[in-house]
Amino acid sequence: MAKLAHEAAQINPFETARRQIDIVADLIGLEPWMRELLKSPKRELTVNFPVRMDDDSYRMFTGYRVQYNMARGPSKGGIRYHPQVSLDEVRALAAWMTWKCAVVNLPYGGAKGGVICDPKKMSKGELERLTRRFASEILPIIGPEMDIPAPDVYTDSQTMAWIMDTYSMQKGYSVPGVVTGKPISLGGSQGRGEATGRGCAYVIREAAPNAGVKVKGASFAVQGFGNAGSVAAKILCEEQGAKLVAASDSRGGVYKPEGINCSALLAHKSKTGSVVGFAGAKPLSNEELLQTKVDILIPAALENQITKKNADKIQAKIVAEAANGPTVPEADTTLFEKKITVLPDILANAGGVTVSYFEWAQDIQGYFWPLAEVTKRLEQVMVQSYKDIHEVAQARQVHNRTAAYVVAIQRVADAIRIRGIYP
Ligand code: NAD
Repeated sequence: MAKLAHEAAQINPFETARRQIDIVADLIGLEPWMRELLKSPKRELTVNFPVRMDDDSYRMFTGYRVQYNMARGPSKGGIRYHPQVSLDEVRALAAWMTWKCAVVNLPYGGAKGGVICDPKKMSKGELERLTRRFASEILPIIGPEMDIPAPDVYTDSQTMAWIMDTYSMQKGYSVPGVVTGKPISLGGSQGRGEATGRGCAYVIREAAPNAGVKVKGASFAVQGFGNAGSVAAKILCEEQGAKLVAASDSRGGVYKPEGINCSALLAHKSKTGSVVGFAGAKPLSNEELLQTKVDILIPAALENQITKKNADKIQAKIVAEAANGPTVPEADTTLFEKKITVLPDILANAGGVTVSYFEWAQDIQGYFWPLAEVTKRLEQVMVQSYKDIHEVAQARQVHNRTAAYVVAIQRVADAIRIRGIYP
């Protein structure tokens, strides 16, 4: 894992994001100015701010908010707390949000935010003060009609509640639509917590027949047994009859070829903080997990995990990217040559932003839907989006990621052309 992490650190995710645009721009013959426009973030804000720590000392933190493209509507994207957050990582994530919203045809552009911090070493009070101050710093450029943050790695519904409250205090009235992924009691949507994993499980179900996989009884492995990964696993096991054989998190992994009981693993993780040490399973490194012989591999941790060094060792028939950017472009070619079906991040994890959109729509209307309605609409969006991409992949004889980018980039470019360039 140490070697993999070192390799991952050397790859600039924004370069990856820009290269992906170039590949599609060549394919669809995009005008040179449009290519440059789509490779450039629209607006970036860097903020440096102090936070009072529990020992009454003050520490400086740096955070970012990047609004990548707003041609199709207000920008949408999560906020990540992590020691390795960088401006280029946030730019890449904001670009991917732009394509993701377009792939599932939401009336949104893309954005992302991040704060360089180690939330595991901070108390709840410190995290609240950090969140409220960061929200105040980016307040001029967020809002329900402008840019709507959501949770990402190491941020959650509590973080969103603090941002919603901070924003509302400044406005003088409650503005639930400023963030999504809020607690239900504050205008959150039913089903938002499980939306990313559920959406991923729907896309796997739709793609499986075309990849020669029968989901019932299929074996699968999850790298990153967090929100997205564990929910996808639970739905694949409990609703679709698949068999979880390996799972990991930042501390390591576990492997049990006869099948891991998903609920029991979740209970173990919530008790001990990790999947490591799960009774009856063998230990497994994250690198080994990626190379395990399974039908379905779900990378659900961080970016740059499948690289040109390990791509030819992947044995899965389907790679479903619950994480953002887990595969580098060179590795894509290898996976395609090996006839592995890749369900790209901008499709496979778009369930989260889809239910975020439902949440925002409900907040704006002040009218809330029951869970069954949310789940039904999510399923419709994921199934239709997979079909759109599969059709383009077949017609152009390209892999699914390229097809997803073709669909997304064409939708964004069309919006820009038809709006015209101001002034
Ligand atoms: P999370 O914090 O709940 O889970 C992340 C998991 O990955 C944790 O279990 C963590 O221990 C593990 N992890 C961290 N570093 C690792 C490493 N080097 N190797 C293996 N495991 C590691 O976060 P999440 O919300 O589930 O997000 C995971 C991924 O999914 C991210 O790429 C995120 O951008 C993406 N995503 C999440 C959502 C969402 O709604 N939560 C939506 C779209 C995309």
